[in-house]
Amino acid sequence: MCGIVGYTGKNQSAPILLNGLARLEYRGYDSAGIAVRDGDSPVQVVKAKGRLKVLAEKTNDGQSVIGTCGIGHTRWATHGEPSETNAHPHISDDYNVVGVHNGIIENYQQLKQRLINRGYKFVSDTDTEVLVQLIDYYYKGNPLEAITKVLHRVEGSYALGILFADHPEEIFAVRKDCPLIVGTSSEGSFIASDVPAILKYTREVYYIDNQEVVALKENEIHFYTV
Ligand code: GLU
Repeated sequence: MCGIVGYTGKNQSAPILLNGLARLEYRGYDSAGIAVRDGDSPVQVVKAKGRLKVLAEKTNDGQSVIGTCGIGHTRWATHGEPSETNAHPHISDDYNVVGVHNGIIENYQQLKQRLINRGYKFVSDTDTEVLVQLIDYYYKGNPLEAITKVLHRVEGSYALGILFADHPEEIFAVRKDCPLIVGTSSEGSFIASDVPAILKYTREVYYIDNQEVVALKENEIHFYTV
């Protein structure tokens, strides 16, 4: 298992992500990482092998990573050793798509080969990076369309949090056979693997259905069926 937390809203996101991930430590993990965006500036990704404390130290408890929209992850390695390179978030090679993933993509090897044939380069050994690059491959300006196309092609289980470079302040999420919830408050919107991650910030929680896609902004949450 692993942990996912995402936040977009009025406040700095990195401290919220680190706090939420700490509440999911009980699920077990071997590395952690966050991706944070400040408005439409490029995403900043910080990752660390080992305890969350290492990531907290690297980011001065989140203070050194500026931005009000972000996703975070604690990884339990299934494909590729526990390492900083294999830790999430993963980024598409043109930096258009950033994602965190809980679960396993069973047909990732075939998909990876097809992407390599089309010129994609990979830096990690994970199935997750394949998922992120595949979303990038299908992305032509509409995140929902790209995500839906990918879901029709991947086999396996997933909870996903995704940022798109040209959709600042917005988080996309989807799940199949892995837990993922959404939270809302006057301060912003959240995703998380489990309720304790966001209890400090809100008690208004929604459960995402299997194969439902969610688009979250500070004051808006939209649910779509695949
Ligand atoms: N299969 C992915 C990986 O190995 C995600 C593992 C997880 O759920 O933490 O990176």
